[in-house]
Amino acid sequence: MFYKYETHLHTSEVSLCGHSTGAEMVRAYKRAGYTGIFVTDHFFNGNCTISRKLDWEKQVELLVRGYEKAKAEGKRLGMDVFFGWEYTHNPYGADYLTYNLDKEFLLAYPQLCRLSFKEYSKLVRKNGGLLVHAHPYRTAFYIHYPPNPKVHLVDGVEVNNAGAGSSCNNNHMAWKLARKNPRLIRISGSDIHSTEGAGLAGVAFRYRIKSSRHFVDALRAGDAYLIIDGKITDQEGNPVKEVV
Ligand SMILES: [Zn+2]
Ligand SMILES: [Zn+2]
Repeated sequence: MFYKYETHLHTSEVSLCGHSTGAEMVRAYKRAGYTGIFVTDHFFNGNCTISRKLDWEKQVELLVRGYEKAKAEGKRLGMDVFFGWEYTHNPYGADYLTYNLDKEFLLAYPQLCRLSFKEYSKLVRKNGGLLVHAHPYRTAFYIHYPPNPKVHLVDGVEVNNAGAGSSCNNNHMAWKLARKNPRLIRISGSDIHSTEGAGLAGVAFRYRIKSSRHFVDALRAGDAYLIIDGKITDQEGNPVKEVV
């Protein structure tokens, strides 16, 4: 038996490109048989709905809204909802999923968007956060980085991003990057922006995840399976039987 989790999800409350609310997302993942989701909306430096003119406190309050709405619906349905965000390193447009930090961390560091990526990485990891390079080889109008990811500044890489299909070249290159750097944690994520396609990606564990801290520990312990095209695989992408 597996417990399934979405690792990369956007809500319309916070992400400009989001089409479904946090509550709608939770219901879709419940239907897809998942145990939980990580809400990873675009940070203030990404495609975010929040005005930068507001006080930092107000901005933070709005940033957690998608998560909080999802959490409330999750409570009703017995789904676990965790908080994260997707930080964009400008002007390159490189995206980094950030886990295991909370509202208190955000409130304490109003300068987050003004840091260099090196400084951001240092601060996040010093505070127990986990940094995962999302779709490191995606090509898009907003991405301008050279294909040379700064692997020493991250803890993991999204080897499978469902956005462009599991077999797209960008994912192949992400797998290659992970194999070249065995230290990197491997995750799979949908990068889902509407309820359509819920259940195609994510990670799975043999046990239930209790908290973001537990999630990080479980990933570091190598206990994660990957969900690719709706199927559970080992960390090399080889299918495994769901019921043993
Ligand atoms: Zn987006
Ligand atoms: Zn995303």
